[in-house]
Amino acid sequence: MAAFLVFEIIIFYNVKYYKIFECFAKNIPKFLLIIMNDMFIEPNISGERRGWIEVICGSMFSGKTEELIRRLKRVKIANLSVEIFKPTIDVRYDETKVVSHDANAIQSTPVESSQQILLMANNVDVVGIDEAQFFDAEIANVCETLAMKGMRVIVAGLDMDYLGNPFGQMPNLLAKADYITKLHAICVKCGHIANISYRKTSQEGQVLVGEKDIYEPRCRVCAAK
Ligand SMILES: [Zn+2]
Repeated sequence: MAAFLVFEIIIFYNVKYYKIFECFAKNIPKFLLIIMNDMFIEPNISGERRGWIEVICGSMFSGKTEELIRRLKRVKIANLSVEIFKPTIDVRYDETKVVSHDANAIQSTPVESSQQILLMANNVDVVGIDEAQFFDAEIANVCETLAMKGMRVIVAGLDMDYLGNPFGQMPNLLAKADYITKLHAICVKCGHIANISYRKTSQEGQVLVGEKDIYEPRCRVCAAK
């Protein structure tokens, strides 16, 4: 117990010392340190532009696209350049817009393959990718290449298919991501947290593009019923 307390005190003072060092030795104001604690808006102390990968995942109706749009709108307000891509397979609402369920839209470019993103995303600050589960095997490498070039890459996608199995390249993207946000829907049967995009029809096959006509959010218990 005593050793634990000593350890705690050492950590406490180290943190304190670090903050004092940051504030006075490097002339960083305290408010900036508070901002630095937010994982997406760290200031670039070295002056070198560094990229990273953010993945927003979850089931259908969990608000992934809304969250992607929210982040991209902030990017635009900050006067940073942004390119947004989605796979051509996802044409549920609009061919050139990333459209969420609440019709909060943002202009995007439909692409056939992940390599096209690499060609089209030159000289931008931020790249947004929606419905990443539909992209080919190269999508994770493409995101890594963009991040290596200094771009912030924000990817949204279904982590699981209607059977609750990992969807497409999402496992690879999640493994390579620097930051992960997992969103949840609400189970329409019991009101608990929902992870599964339950398919209401008897059609099989992993890819069946649809909306509330075909899918509903369910928890794992209600999905198994
Ligand atoms: Zn349920």
